[in-house]
Amino acid sequence: MLRRTLLAAARSAGLRRTIEAAPVTRGVVRRFIAGETTADALETTRELRSDGLLVTLDHLGEDTLDAKQAEKTVQAYEELIDQLPKGAEVSVKLTALGQSFDEDLALANARRICAAAGRAGTTVTLDMEEHTTVASTLRILAALREEHPDTGAVIQAYLRRAEEYCAGLAHAGSRVRLCKGAYAAPAEVAFQSAGEIDKSYVRCMKVLMAGSGYPMLATHDPRLIEIADALRVINERPFTTFEYQMLYGIRPNEQRRLAGTGAQVRVYVPYGGEWYGYMMRRLAERPANLAFFLRSFTTK
Ligand code: FAD
Repeated sequence: MLRRTLLAAARSAGLRRTIEAAPVTRGVVRRFIAGETTADALETTRELRSDGLLVTLDHLGEDTLDAKQAEKTVQAYEELIDQLPKGAEVSVKLTALGQSFDEDLALANARRICAAAGRAGTTVTLDMEEHTTVASTLRILAALREEHPDTGAVIQAYLRRAEEYCAGLAHAGSRVRLCKGAYAAPAEVAFQSAGEIDKSYVRCMKVLMAGSGYPMLATHDPRLIEIADALRVINERPFTTFEYQMLYGIRPNEQRRLAGTGAQVRVYVPYGGEWYGYMMRRLAERPANLAFFLRSFTTK
């Protein structure tokens, strides 16, 4: 119930204006977000790299309804990619590139980001957003992969069709991030209970780890991480053939512990001024974070 309310709030423009204007302490947002500027993002990247962690950077922004704003997002990625150190890539939300009003524009914008990444010797992963965008995102992914086959896909295990999507993407050269799914999706298209979602995640992991692609297992869930390790052993996968992924600021000790076992661990690092939607989804995942967030309003 609380999760649904927070996810609905994540889409409310009015609430967004109120919360963004509130004197939220820099510390609260900074726990999950690297900062507002490219320089902040690069500094956090260097720190994580020096701890042996890989990085994927997300320039915050989504639901853009304006071609000029989408252009600014492309330019922000181009500026970032030019300065990325080795071991860092980017994650991109297609709705920040115009997907909600012009799929062709989003594809053209994503092509420019992939081209910049290709020149810099790094990669792009397309985040997956609301269930209504899945078909369009998979179309754009297929078009991008014709020229940039290393473009990463994301599959959300809460989708009833997740296992089928994974089977279609588990081929050689295919980078696939598997996550539980962070948006509110109706029962017709998505599993609703945590148990069903976890079981779907395991089925998808089995498909990806048995396949010949490059799985990117994005979860903080200790049980799923244990099962992933068992699948690594069963499928005789060297650590170099897949990676774990976690969000910046969430279970940072576990990120370092896993990396210490020899596994590749990539941290998803969001940065930029448009933190509202991202923060609200993190709060929806964990009520303890909500208390922490609300306290910052009263203690300021
Ligand atoms: P959960 O069952 O939510 O959590 C398991 C445990 O992890 C919790 O018990 C807690 O200890 C810890 N934990 C989880 N979340 C938090 C939190 N917010 N604060 C503190 N502790 C927490 N979703 C999409 O829909 N599309 C995407 O493209 C996408 N990309 C992602 C990329 C990465 C690298 C990651 C890690 C997640 C991504 N997600 C994406 C979000 C994902 O779908 C989940 O909403 C999120 O990861 C929480 O699920 P979980 O697997 O960690 O399991």
